[in-house]
Amino acid sequence: MSVKKRVPMREQAPEKRIHNFDSVPLGYSREEAVQEAKRCIQCKNPTCESGCPVKMKIKSIINEIANENFEKAFFIAKEDNAVPAITGRVCPQEDQCEGVCILEKKGQPINIGKLFAFVADWARENNIEEHLEIKDNNKKVAVVGAGPAGITCSVDLRKAGYHVTLFEALHMAGGVLQYGIPAFRLPRDVVDYELSFLEKIGVEIKLNSIVGQNMSFEELRNQYDAVFLATGAGAPRFLHIEGEKLKGVYSANEFLIRVNLMKAYKFPEWDTPIVCGNKVGIIGCGNVAMDAARCAKRLGAKEVYILYRRTRKCAPARREEIKHAEEEGIIFKEMVCPSRIIGNDDGWITGIELVQTKFEGFDKSGRPKPVNVDNSQFVMELDTLVNALGTTPNRLFLRNAPELETHSWGGIKVDENLMSNLEGVFAGGDALTGGSTVIEAMGHGRQAAAAIDKYLTK
Ligand SMILES: Cc1cc2nc3c(=O)[nH]c(=O)nc-3n(C[C@H](O)[C@H](O)[C@H](O)COP(=O)(O)OP(=O)(O)OC[C@H]3O[C@@H](n4cnc5c(N)ncnc54)[C@H](O)[C@@H]3O)c2cc1C
Repeated sequence: MSVKKRVPMREQAPEKRIHNFDSVPLGYSREEAVQEAKRCIQCKNPTCESGCPVKMKIKSIINEIANENFEKAFFIAKEDNAVPAITGRVCPQEDQCEGVCILEKKGQPINIGKLFAFVADWARENNIEEHLEIKDNNKKVAVVGAGPAGITCSVDLRKAGYHVTLFEALHMAGGVLQYGIPAFRLPRDVVDYELSFLEKIGVEIKLNSIVGQNMSFEELRNQYDAVFLATGAGAPRFLHIEGEKLKGVYSANEFLIRVNLMKAYKFPEWDTPIVCGNKVGIIGCGNVAMDAARCAKRLGAKEVYILYRRTRKCAPARREEIKHAEEEGIIFKEMVCPSRIIGNDDGWITGIELVQTKFEGFDKSGRPKPVNVDNSQFVMELDTLVNALGTTPNRLFLRNAPELETHSWGGIKVDENLMSNLEGVFAGGDALTGGSTVIEAMGHGRQAAAAIDKYLTK
């Protein structure tokens, strides 16, 4: 089978984009989208759909795009996914739908993500909206956390007639979509527009509402027929090495929240200070590390280093993010592990001591296991360090719900229906997994909404 080449995605040139926070991909034009959709061979049993946690009807959507029925394609997409323009941009499609596309074997899978982003953007630009007839059923559900899991659960429950109140600790809904992923990957007008759908269908959103602090978990349980916990995993992990409290050392969460949610990148228009020096180190090699590195570059850092104890080939970051980071001049220092952070008398970071690593066997996840090489320490000068080692579920909430069963690392324990040990209390997303993907969290949101509906109608 000869396979036509993927229609390439136009992008901002690296030398230009490192000076702005505008979207890197420029999106398909109408003609490009149709041409790309026409490459789809419309498999009888589409493997791409089995790879999608929210079970999008990928084959039909692509078929409608190929036939220029964009409105129909959009409505089919919205049946299973409240935020297709967002997932089209940030999903790791290479590990999901595109990873199992039959054309992947030839190295040219259909660009499903960019097609979905195209069709959702087209609907927004043409003011195409869903108009749903919702019949209220007089039952109330509280959803805690307005990230992808909470948003998806709220939409599905509202569509089924429930009165849904969505409690969010921050002053904006979106979770990581708002505070973590930078605008050059996920433009904020796209996020704001897709999230405005919740209020349009009658989901009540209560911002600045920290469950466990502004109101107790018990109050919530008494006032609602069911509760869905989608509090994410926003607590940073630390290295526990000397020097971590020095000035100029950030957790990736703090760094990205300052830049994205509190708009430090628009300083002084937005009055959020951020100190980002000329020589910046980022510890880790996942999506979070790539985001932090690319933000630092855009904030004016001259040299930005990814410090990683493996090689980028076994890194958890999306391939596209690594490629974009490389194009933007991010330097990958592989096979190194931090042993201490060095500071001056004023308490500011001046450098980091690193140890060389080598591979010895494999760890539990099947990846090559790095071990430190004896006497291989060396010092690298740095004026800013961002720790992107991963996150764990937020203990603040958990401390206020001592009766809720959790794993030792803080993840909420649930049964096969995503119900916790507490009657009528369900949970999903990163609060369960400790950190996964937007679409996995949305998959939990859908699964929990169906389980809550079953629970409340039994
Ligand atoms: C920087 C970064 C980049 C990423 N890039 C990608 C990517 O490219 N692709 C991808 O698929 N995934 C990516 N991820 C992972 C993905 O974003 C998460 O897996 C996903 O957002 C999890 O969704 P969630 O709804 O479970 O939690 P979150 O998105 O974390 O949302 C949880 C929400 O709950 C709120 N909350 C917490 N406690 C309370 C409380 N007590 N009361 C009220 N509200 C509360 C929080 O404020 C937050 O808004 C990235 C993550 C990060 C941090």
